[in-house]
Amino acid sequence: MSDNELPVKLAIIPVTDFQQNCSIIWCTKTMQGVVIDPGGDVENILHAISETGVDVKHILLTHGHFDHAGGAAELKQKLGVDIIGPHKGDKFLLESLEEYGSQFGMSGIRNCQSDKWLDDGDELQIGDVTLKVLHCPGHTPGSVVFVIDEIELAIVGDVLFHGSIGRTDLPGGNHEQLLASIRNRLLTLDDGFSFISGHGPASTIGNERANNPFLQA
Ligand SMILES: [Zn+2]
Ligand SMILES: [Zn+2]
Repeated sequence: MSDNELPVKLAIIPVTDFQQNCSIIWCTKTMQGVVIDPGGDVENILHAISETGVDVKHILLTHGHFDHAGGAAELKQKLGVDIIGPHKGDKFLLESLEEYGSQFGMSGIRNCQSDKWLDDGDELQIGDVTLKVLHCPGHTPGSVVFVIDEIELAIVGDVLFHGSIGRTDLPGGNHEQLLASIRNRLLTLDDGFSFISGHGPASTIGNERANNPFLQA
């Protein structure tokens, strides 16, 4: 490895009809990594894993919606790894993935269980890389965000988007709580942090602080 190679790399695989940004994130030194939000299209995710050569250690979930978690049980079975996250507030969603998915015409979805719930302040070690956990309820009660300080990157699920915020009209959603999570947790990150949302393009904390219409006082 050359000295200027990034310590962390990622690949994004849009999955399901909802073009959900499933991501593979790995430590380039050890090649250990995680798959975040395998909502479906598990064959595509497995193909991307083999292309990158990553040794997947865990499946991580940002929250319990089917476009993020619908393929987790199948991927767990294929890879033989644990499902970690989200916060236990989303237990009811993981138990009804099939029911919600079928309402949206999605097939191949399976309910899943978390092997380890996450709490605010938890840290996950992936090779030499540390992922910090922020509990950010509002889009769902158990939504979490993963922060990698080393490369100033956050994986935010459906909490925050480029120019928008998560919807709060689904079971367990709460608009005021979501705004509080964004202001008190996400916006404490430096402006230079990039983030990857569950859908759509990436952005930066600074850009959203300055321009996101939902965050202007
Ligand atoms: Zn969602
Ligand atoms: Zn989503």
